[in-house]
Amino acid sequence: MSLTAYRRKRNFRTTPEPRARAHRRGKELIFVVQKHRASHPHHDFRLELDRVLKSWAVPKGPPRRPADKRLAVQVEDHPYAYKDFEGRIPEGEYGAGLVEKWDGGTYEVEGATSAAESERAMRAGLRLGRMSFVLKGSKLRGVYSLVRLKSPKQWLLIKTHAKK
Ligand code: MN
Repeated sequence: MSLTAYRRKRNFRTTPEPRARAHRRGKELIFVVQKHRASHPHHDFRLELDRVLKSWAVPKGPPRRPADKRLAVQVEDHPYAYKDFEGRIPEGEYGAGLVEKWDGGTYEVEGATSAAESERAMRAGLRLGRMSFVLKGSKLRGVYSLVRLKSPKQWLLIKTHAKK
């Protein structure tokens, strides 16, 4: 599992964040966006893939309008249970500050007929540095892309178009 970095950065006797646990994929893949008032405020954009939440910190928040793009810095994978986390990470802990849920819902890859097929496309896209997916949230809806820049952790989160 890829949650080693998540575990290493945290002291679970101090932080209220969920411990890393395995998760079995449901019928649909989920995404979540959390607002994180850390020392550098940002939104955390998380996509379920291979039983964890692939995660990006988006300093200016996710794009809402077509053709908008925002820098998204990939961070360590988070456990699936993090999708429901809200609370205050105490001072002195990694990511200290308030975490609030901002949006969430399901996502899929256009043309995929199952979650497994979406995952296969996403896995390949993650490796190649280019993923495209349809978000079905309350605030975020439509086709989005993540495109990797030259630096391996730096991506652009782009709202490609509004309609599914
Ligand atoms: Mn964060």
